[in-house]
Amino acid sequence: EGTARRRDTYYAASQKKFVPFAEPMIFRRGSMQYLWDEAGRKYVDLLGMNVCVSVGHSHPVVVKAAAEQAAELTHCTTMFYHPVPAHLAEELAATMPKGPKGDIEWVVHFTNSGSEAIDLAMVMARGYTGNLDLLALRNGYHGPTSAAQSVTGIAAFRHPGMPGNVAFVAEPNQYRGVFGPGTQPYLDEIERTIAVATTGRIAGMLVESVQGYGGIIEMPPGYMSGAAERVRAAGGLYIADEVQSGFGRTGDHMWGFEADGVIPDIVVMAKGIGNGFPLGAVVAQRQIAQPMAEKFMFHTYGANPTSCAAGRAVLQVLREERLQQNAKTVGGALLERLNDLRQRHPAIGDVRGRGLMLAIEMVRDRNSKEPDPETTAAVFEQCRESGLILSKSGPTRSTLRMVPPLCLSLADVDQVSEGLDRAFTKAR
Ligand code: PMP
Repeated sequence: EGTARRRDTYYAASQKKFVPFAEPMIFRRGSMQYLWDEAGRKYVDLLGMNVCVSVGHSHPVVVKAAAEQAAELTHCTTMFYHPVPAHLAEELAATMPKGPKGDIEWVVHFTNSGSEAIDLAMVMARGYTGNLDLLALRNGYHGPTSAAQSVTGIAAFRHPGMPGNVAFVAEPNQYRGVFGPGTQPYLDEIERTIAVATTGRIAGMLVESVQGYGGIIEMPPGYMSGAAERVRAAGGLYIADEVQSGFGRTGDHMWGFEADGVIPDIVVMAKGIGNGFPLGAVVAQRQIAQPMAEKFMFHTYGANPTSCAAGRAVLQVLREERLQQNAKTVGGALLERLNDLRQRHPAIGDVRGRGLMLAIEMVRDRNSKEPDPETTAAVFEQCRESGLILSKSGPTRSTLRMVPPLCLSLADVDQVSEGLDRAFTKAR
């Protein structure tokens, strides 16, 4: 009772902008890929509660692990040793590529969120290289802290007064990118930007392996490895932001960067790692993290046993329930259905993505590709009425993003495609 009134009265304006629905939605229960609202109505959570719920809402294995840990010792700050975060660090390091000679060693620094991990990666890259300039992609999103905003390319997420030393390059958007489809012009743009917009000495480049809030923009073949090569030639590090694309979501690999065979210097992760528990991490090549030993960097709740117990359980469930494979199979089936919908609904300009990281981009006209935020909003509302929770994303909010828990089933795919079909028909 009174939840909407209290929230509307006491939340700061900064938190109010993100209420995308016509009516306030109050969820009270979740199980796997489903949510229930206050009235007991069931929904398919295609948003994965913002890509956090990787293995399923309130997954019993994760809940049990976290509850038992919380009962035994909820918190133990990082200056003390504890077996749970130590194990999780070992397990995360083991997911990273070892390189052609098998000699790359990885180390882990735990945070509580993606943006803290981004901040840390920026500090690490600047500290290791001794350079200040960073490159980031337009249409990218890296988080709400000042440092993370400074590398975020979507204007709507950038407030005045953020720190500098960041140069932006065009994202290699294959549907509507400034240089059209292809990889090479976007790699040339990196070289050009380094030459004209920086000191020429680069600390690093941040790349989401698949841009999430930007509307599911995949990096085309050769882009990530080509970008890494160019940045390294200017003395910088390649930093992979896997906050949305990691933990098997793309179906083919544990990490999005693996699609291109690139070996990052630093990998940033959060969201799916905790299945909803606050947890983030920077996983870096050992030598790159080393210079930070000169000073303190300390996240009070980082490596807390409760979140880390959830993290370990997530890795266990991903493996035992073969969720990466499920993301590939079910995501592949959903993508096929979305492509069928594109044949029948002219408002769909593009369908894209991999695994369970998919998107539909809406246009007023397929030739002009003029974005259509109004129809997108109408479809989004209709979907809610059909029991589907989606997200509007992309710089013009004309893209419907689908990033459900990785346990989505083939039966759900039927419901989702039928619901979307109805919504497109009604919204026309
Ligand atoms: N990077 C990416 C790609 C993200 O999508 C987000 C969050 N949406 C972040 C970083 C920041 O994570 P957090 O909100 O946990 O700080």
